[in-house]
Amino acid sequence: MRMDVVTIFPEYLEPLDVSLVGKARARGQLDVRVHDLRAWTHDRHHTVDDTPYGGGPGMVMKPEPWGEALDAVLASGGSGDGGPVLVVPTPSGRPFTQELAVELAARPWLVFTPARYEGIDRRVIDDYAARCDVREVSIGDYVLAGGEAPVLVMVEAIARLLPGVLGNAESHRDDSFAPGAMAGLLEGPVYTKPPVWRGREVPEVLVSGHHGRIGRWRRDEALRRTSENRPDLVAGAEPEAFGTHDRATLAELGWEPGPDGRFGRSSRPVEE
Ligand code: SAM
Repeated sequence: MRMDVVTIFPEYLEPLDVSLVGKARARGQLDVRVHDLRAWTHDRHHTVDDTPYGGGPGMVMKPEPWGEALDAVLASGGSGDGGPVLVVPTPSGRPFTQELAVELAARPWLVFTPARYEGIDRRVIDDYAARCDVREVSIGDYVLAGGEAPVLVMVEAIARLLPGVLGNAESHRDDSFAPGAMAGLLEGPVYTKPPVWRGREVPEVLVSGHHGRIGRWRRDEALRRTSENRPDLVAGAEPEAFGTHDRATLAELGWEPGPDGRFGRSSRPVEE
């Protein structure tokens, strides 16, 4: 997979040389190219921003450097791969989710446009949206100073899904948000050796060797954690997502099915 990043802070992307993404690059599984936006400016000060039309605080990134940079990056791609997906980090974009990471991981080429200041002149997004797949994406409901950290987040989430990048291909099977058996649930707690640490024991079931019981325990813990930390996921789940045992666990956690079958918090007090 190829990824291009256009930024005014190329050094901010240096973590892409480290750990999982760095190794994937070294092995040739991931071709990451970082470009300095200022290379496409033509004035002495390498200006990339200007005051906003209509007034107001802050500065806006000028369209000309972005247009030249993106034209050059797009022109460097081969034909026949359907063109890149342009990923535009912005707090006003659609949420970046595991589902979107899976979708983007299946594409051969992503181009990221992390901005600074108040963002990029809108005409740039509109211009490229007319000829390629543009995704405006937010990594969360907060505002950072720039899009480089969101790019690091997205690249890592996408890269670990690429075939052969994780040592054990099964590693992301049970992740929180992963499609599959635990779909829609957060992952429960995990343990390793030693069996006792500071007087705290590993749950007995995990050392029982009984795969059926272990699987059930893991699912109950996932239900417990999801109920506690992300009740919106329980409330939004399709009723068919929960089997008989799940329903008993959810009842213990204070959930009951409503008239449409979806679960909501029960009004009756839960007995200990
Ligand atoms: N005025 C903009 C707004 O309220 O939507 C915020 C601009 S922010 C200071 C500058 C840049 O940081 C954005 O253009 C974007 O590239 C990046 N950024 C900040 N927060 C982000 C978030 N939650 N998700 C994705 N990108 C973000």
